[in-house]
Amino acid sequence: MSYELKPWHEIPVGSIVPEAGSSKVNKTGSWRMLRPVLNYDKCTHCLICWIFCPDDSIPVSPKERFETDFDYCKGCGICAVECPYNALEMVPEMEIKLKELEEQLG
Ligand code: SF4
Ligand code: SF4
Repeated sequence: MSYELKPWHEIPVGSIVPEAGSSKVNKTGSWRMLRPVLNYDKCTHCLICWIFCPDDSIPVSPKERFETDFDYCKGCGICAVECPYNALEMVPEMEIKLKELEEQLG
């Protein structure tokens, strides 16, 4: 697949968020192309991923990291890059969706 590079003023408007402070309402997780899949066996709960996540999409307690909040995770992959224990793998959403569909169909 090839893409044509266009100057910014020729790019069609995708969406507009007219109001500030509306991030809870706009579930930006639907933008995600890649999903950070957590390997719980490798995770030491060091919480470094939580510090780096620009979307505050990693729920934590003082001692534990929980599953990513996929309503808001945009799939930037910063958590996977910063994890010192390689506990996160970025997997294409399409791959995961196809697997889920196959399981549903039997
Ligand atoms: S940085 Fe890696 S090991 Fe640390 S809490 Fe996050 S996923 Fe777990
Ligand atoms: S992929 Fe990006 S947005 Fe999603 S949890 Fe990791 S750092 Fe946060």
